[in-house]
Amino acid sequence: MHRIGDGGSLWVWRLLILLQFVSGILSWGKEGHFATCRIAEEYLTEDAKAAVKELLPSSAGGDLASVCSWPDEIRHSYRWRWSGPLHYVDTPDFKCNYEYCRDCHDLGGNKDRCVTGAIYNYTKQLMDFNHGCYSTVEYNLTEALMFLSHFVGDVHQPLHVGFTGDEGGNTIIVHWYGRKTNLHHVWDNMIIDSALKMFYQSDLNNMIEAIQSNITDVWFNDVSSWRNCAANQTACPDPYASESINLACKFAYKDVTPGSTLKNDYFRSRLPIVEQRLAQGGVRLAATLNRIFASGPKVTTT
Ligand SMILES: [Zn+2]
Repeated sequence: MHRIGDGGSLWVWRLLILLQFVSGILSWGKEGHFATCRIAEEYLTEDAKAAVKELLPSSAGGDLASVCSWPDEIRHSYRWRWSGPLHYVDTPDFKCNYEYCRDCHDLGGNKDRCVTGAIYNYTKQLMDFNHGCYSTVEYNLTEALMFLSHFVGDVHQPLHVGFTGDEGGNTIIVHWYGRKTNLHHVWDNMIIDSALKMFYQSDLNNMIEAIQSNITDVWFNDVSSWRNCAANQTACPDPYASESINLACKFAYKDVTPGSTLKNDYFRSRLPIVEQRLAQGGVRLAATLNRIFASGPKVTTT
């Protein structure tokens, strides 16, 4: 056992801080995913709630939000390295549009290996479970639920559908107020972190409550269209990805060049976009899970 302050634990702390930074580069940070899933929990039907509860790992204590960052925590380990490309989709530079067939592949050109492809895939796995064609050998449905919940969040982060050439803003080095970082990290973490400090007494629950009251109040008329999915479709990640690259062009990339210092003007004009994307991610995750588990899980008994 290490005492706090001895060399070993100091090293462990440094590693943890580094890991947190590294994982933050790769998707909405922990706060963003927690917020999306917490918002989703509010909108689950009884059937979906029951199915989610059945599938959650015991470590979740019945709380979906507590495991929504899991895919970021494991993705750097050897066993899960294959899942890395599933957190984003890159689109052609400056085109500002997204097409599944053109864009959804990994760096090796393997089709369907991107965030929207992953959402379709894990939705299908969970649907099979719901229809009783479920085999524990084929899929781990606890993982499917955690991946789906995470990736519906990711596809709403505009720079997860960014340009190929700058890796969704990862290679655009900027200053966030005084701190050197990159544009992708600004959208994953920094805007949310600054908002928490400036407006929400550093309490994520306050920020989530503010977003929830916007959903029932400011965005009330839009929420049913957020839930919409083409006829007979269970998951609809393609329009979410199109919205994201649009917002990336209009807000994330706009007026940013390598070396820019981003501060109040950028922060205040982009925060409403971030909050709306967290809201949409939550409402749509719930709508997707509600469609998947519409008639309750039918586990086959033999
Ligand atoms: Zn991610």
